[in-house]
Amino acid sequence: MKILMYSTHEHERTYAEEWAKETGNQVTMEMVPLTKETVAMAKGYDGVSVQQTSRIDEEVYRALHELGIKQISTRTAGVDMFDLQAAAQNGITITNVAIYSPRAIAEMGVTHAMYLLRNIGRFNQRMENDYDFRWSGDLIAKEIYTCTVGLIGAGHIGGATAQIYRALGARVIAFDRHPDPELAPYMEYVDFETVLKESDILSLHVPLLPSTEKMIDAAAIAKMKDNAILINMARGGLVDTQTLIDALNSGRLGGAGLDTLADETTYFGKQVDAEEVPDDYHELEEMPNVVITPHVAFFTNVAVRNMVRISLDDVVAVIKGQRTKNIVK
Ligand code: NAD
Repeated sequence: MKILMYSTHEHERTYAEEWAKETGNQVTMEMVPLTKETVAMAKGYDGVSVQQTSRIDEEVYRALHELGIKQISTRTAGVDMFDLQAAAQNGITITNVAIYSPRAIAEMGVTHAMYLLRNIGRFNQRMENDYDFRWSGDLIAKEIYTCTVGLIGAGHIGGATAQIYRALGARVIAFDRHPDPELAPYMEYVDFETVLKESDILSLHVPLLPSTEKMIDAAAIAKMKDNAILINMARGGLVDTQTLIDALNSGRLGGAGLDTLADETTYFGKQVDAEEVPDDYHELEEMPNVVITPHVAFFTNVAVRNMVRISLDDVVAVIKGQRTKNIVK
């Protein structure tokens, strides 16, 4: 089978080549995204795989249909770039990779939390600015096994996060609308208020939905423990960013580890000029008790390999009419 992989990143190449060799399929890798200008490149191919945030409009599905292509497989969890109705009308099946490595995101959250717990940013600031290598009472740290870690959302990533913190000896509590009995060895389910009130580290792992948007607002922060650390590896929109900045400035919260920000799409994943970066980012990056990473919690060799392989497997499965659990409804 001949597959065209759009928006190929350098780091994906070896995994696609490895898959092609193992399965006997042919994969051609292009760096451009799938658009109305590039769709003609798919002529002569059996299927396509994409990895992009830019919209895929109706005329693209129509053009693919005319080329005899029946599917688009995205190497991402997100499917917001598709017009699912237009795809269906043109007989195009969409697949995504919803789960590629929960551990990758969980480990990044724990990494942020440990950095903040031990005040590394604050020590660094004193050393860099003033050659101040002293230890002082305000930077004394807690040890992780004495902490309560609260999770909001205990699905794939929250569950993996619970397991890591439990292995480190922390008490883990979680709020989730749909408790999973299999996670009982690692944590205790509590209500939203209790998670806020009892957590030394509060870690967010719910999707961004109307019901979760800005769930960490002024009222929620007011209930949190003094000096608590907020970790957001999920979506920036879960947090009212200005309220978070105020809580960090006033010393109410001890720190924040953020892999996502509400306005990130204009600059994360790109190199931009300083003036293109929004003010909230500039304010947060100045704070020694804040860690920001540019939505890279997923970015591990295991996760990228899984994204590529699952997506390419799905191209073949859809074309052959085989079962795959990854069809987007
Ligand atoms: P999941 O669907 O397995 O888990 C989400 C959990 O949230 C579920 O258990 C669900 O019951 C719960 N939930 C949903 N709405 C809720 C609500 N209103 N109140 C309480 N609980 C609620 O998803 P996942 O794979 O664990 O991913 C979680 C989120 O992580 C994703 O939605 C995405 O936003 C984010 N994510 C981030 C990265 C990254 O690189 N930073 C990568 C992948 C996913």
